Formats: sequence, structure tokens, C-alpha cells
Amino acid sequence: MSDVPDGPETDTPVPPSPHLPPLQPSLPPLRPSLPPLRDVIARHGLAASKALGQNFLLDEQLLARIAAIPGPLEGKRVFEVGPGPGGLTRAALRAGAYVTAVERDARCLPALEELGAAFPGRLTVIEGDAMEVDACPLVGDGAHILANLPYNVGTALLVGWLSASWKPWWASLTLMFQQEVAQRIVAPAGSDHYGRLAVLAQWRSTAHIAMKVHRSAFTPAPKVMSAVVHIVPKEEPEGVKLPVLERITAAAFGQRRKMLRQSLKGVPGALEALAALGIDPQRRAETVSVVDYVAIARILSA
Ligand code: SAM
Repeated sequence: MSDVPDGPETDTPVPPSPHLPPLQPSLPPLRPSLPPLRDVIARHGLAASKALGQNFLLDEQLLARIAAIPGPLEGKRVFEVGPGPGGLTRAALRAGAYVTAVERDARCLPALEELGAAFPGRLTVIEGDAMEVDACPLVGDGAHILANLPYNVGTALLVGWLSASWKPWWASLTLMFQQEVAQRIVAPAGSDHYGRLAVLAQWRSTAHIAMKVHRSAFTPAPKVMSAVVHIVPKEEPEGVKLPVLERITAAAFGQRRKMLRQSLKGVPGALEALAALGIDPQRRAETVSVVDYVAIARILSA
């Protein structure tokens, strides 16, 4: 990649956003010299806050590999939750992205302002709680979501993005989770981690673990290992209502040790749907595939 590109790639048009400046006709160098992240943290006094789930990534090669997971970002819009001192943010900016980031910790804002100055017109930082920010109007359709998520709100944010009306406004999700959460997202039927989150993630998306990250890569190191999950939306299966699917999986996995004939008996029409589909009611929730849950939900959505 040239250090001084003559403009963003235009293979996917970037939708206009009222909150972002127009794309610059001539871009600044993508690799301005930046101070090491450790120095940024020290200079701005960013002692990690446990309450805000702060485990920073400082290895720039690792950050560049994570930012590469969604594919080429040149000229693309990225939405980042929790930029902190800006490690993943700078990796996305260096890849040529236009980044909008929401950060709850006001202490990080001066560091992010410096980063924005090194990439003029490329970084918009919003101080706030990502749980309360409506990102779509800020970043526009087709943005890639990229985040080393704070563990305390990570799953809730994911569920919100996956529960969006389909196709969603985001083009892909590239998200760091604790490894156990990552396994629950990608789990196949029949595995220990398979449950409601796997069905929600997989019924109209593809989800896979793109990278495992050792806990020692973080500052401070968390107690557990992490993994980056990459999720890409697919077409929505026809004739299926999400609330119906959620009702079935809540009932089935709410009593996962019980047979379906017991766990689903409170869901009107569910046992008849099992019979119509030839699914043995003596099976347990974790043995039923995503495809079969979708088929049950389709019958009950009619
Ligand atoms: N992206 C940085 C990195 O990879 O080093 C920091 C990641 S750290 C795991 C999580 C970040 O999310 C912190 O900067 C924290 O302040 C921020 N954060 C925590 N809760 C948040 C929320 N509700 N909304 C927005 N940011 C939040």
C-alpha cells in the first residue's frame, strides 16, 4: 500500500452522513508518525478502570491484524465502541477508514483528539454511552463495526445489533469478547456452548472466531482469554418473526436439560410444529439445529 494514496477506494459508495465531513478529495498520509500507545496512556494518565472494562491493546501489529479482519477498509466507514487510548482506532485509520467512535471515559478524549489531528477529517469521537447512542444515523448504512468491547456491555450491544431489522445497517461486526462469550456466539448444535446466543447470531448471519487473543496481550491482563468474532449478515429466512424465534429458544434453553415436549409445552403450537417437522419431542434443546429452530419459528410465525 502506498503511504500517500490519492483518494479513497470507490468500489462501495460511502453513504453521506450529516454528522461526518465529506470525504476529502486528497487524503493525508495514512502513516503519520504516532507515539507508542504506552506513552499515550502515560501522558494522559489513563490508568485502566475496571468499572469501564478497560483492558487496552498496545501491540500495533496485533491491532493491525484485527483491523484487517473486516477486509480492506480504505474509504469505508467504521463504527468503534470504546476507542480508549485509540489503539484499534489508529489501526483502522491507518487502513484508510473513516472512523466514528463512542467513548464513555472522558479522560480518553484528549488522546483521541490528538489522534484525530494526525488523520484530519477521518475521526469523529462522541463522548457517551454506546448503549444509548443510535449509531446508524451517525455512521450511515454499510459501516463496519469494530471494537474491543468492554466486557460489561459487550453481549448487550451484540444482541442489539443482531436484533436489528434486516438487513441491518452494519456491513460486518468484528468484535473482541471474552473467549467463553465468543464460543457461545459461534457454537454448533450439540456443543456445550450452544444456546440462545448462538441461534440469534447464526439464524441470519455467519459467525466465526477469526482470532484468539492471549490474555497477556492486554494491559492490564484480564483473568481469561479473548477471541475476535467476525459476523456477516445473510439474507433473512423468509416467513420467520424474530420475537417468535426468541420465544421458542427462551423456552427450550430455559430448561435445557428437559425434553422438548416438556420445555416447549407452554408455547402454543410448538409441539404440533415439532410433529409436522418430524423432530422427536424427546430431544433436548441443545441437539436442535439453528435450521430446525428457524423451521419451528416459521410455522409459528404464519
Ligand atoms: N479500544 C481500546 C483498545 O482496544 O485498547 C479500549 C478497549 S477497552 C476493552 C473498552 C473501552 O470501552 C474502554 O475505553 C472503555 O472506557 C469503553 N467503554 C466502556 N463502557 C462503555 C460504554 N458503555 N460506551 C462506550 N464506551 C465504553
